[in-house]
Amino acid sequence: MNYDLIVIGEGVSGLACAGHARRSGLKVATFESTLFGGLVLNVNELDGYPGAESGTHLASELMQANSDAGVASIQEDVTAIRPAGRAFEVAAGGVYSARQVVVASGARLKKLGVPGEDDYEGRGVSHCADCDAPMFQNEDVVVVGGGDSALQEALVLAKFCRKVRIVHRGDSFRAQKHLAEQVRANPGISILWTSSVEAILGAKMVEKVRVRRDGKTEDIASAGVFAYVGLEPNAACAPSGVGRDGRGHLVTNDAFETSMAGVWAIGAVRAGYSGLLRDAVIEARRVADAVRDRLE
Ligand code: NAP
Repeated sequence: MNYDLIVIGEGVSGLACAGHARRSGLKVATFESTLFGGLVLNVNELDGYPGAESGTHLASELMQANSDAGVASIQEDVTAIRPAGRAFEVAAGGVYSARQVVVASGARLKKLGVPGEDDYEGRGVSHCADCDAPMFQNEDVVVVGGGDSALQEALVLAKFCRKVRIVHRGDSFRAQKHLAEQVRANPGISILWTSSVEAILGAKMVEKVRVRRDGKTEDIASAGVFAYVGLEPNAACAPSGVGRDGRGHLVTNDAFETSMAGVWAIGAVRAGYSGLLRDAVIEARRVADAVRDRLE
């Protein structure tokens, strides 16, 4: 099947780009290997994005709008993008052709990489405060990290849990100021600065978290562990010839085109993305317009 534009990823960036391109007259397909929506599905309150009821609601609205506009949604894992003459071959369940490709494959949560993390997955180790917080009603939990995700999720957990301890390796937060202020003002949240998690311990379920601080270790009673220590880009599908930064993000120019003409990158997979949802939508629309202009 031939398309003007193939967008890889049905997160907010990919959906917004595909919908905008389709409404400007292009024949567009989106590819997604898991559930549409991406990381935003785990967030109920979308900070800095007024009007959206929740992450799931926003993703569903974009998906429905794309379907109404005639974007083809293909549930296949893209394994390769290859230049083919003046177009590209996109290998997934089948092989598809696109005149231009937008990589909007997003990112996944990094793991802590400590003993117990994998063993207790789903048994106290969680990555979604909005989904799991009610299961930790009146329990103590640990959140790891000092960015927007860690603080936002700690605030969600504090509504349910007895005590939320943020374990952060630094001595200040990198999160936005308004989140840091809310965390500091919340009596249910305490902060362990310059500390790191060494292990997650328990029996059937998580019971303790081993924390190293000032050269000493301490086992802190905790029923849950929520690690938000940054993101890793899902960039494996992009051609090896596309430039990457040291952390594997796709490098683009100011117009969001990669080092391979005709392959664009937007959202969390690209180097320099702000992480703000409103920026994701703005850049998605800009790329859709640029692709349309290129194909005219
Ligand atoms: P992030 O901004 O990269 O922050 C990761 C945090 O984890 C940092 O505090 C970092 O410490 C710490 N960290 C990294 N590796 C670690 C390790 N191995 N062990 C312990 N701690 C570690 O990641 P994020 O908070 O997931 O946010 C990702 C992007 O999404 C950001 O651009 C963010 O702004 C955006 N976001 C925005 C919102 C919002 O608008 N409300 C909400 C969530 C996310 P250091 O500070 O010492 O480096």
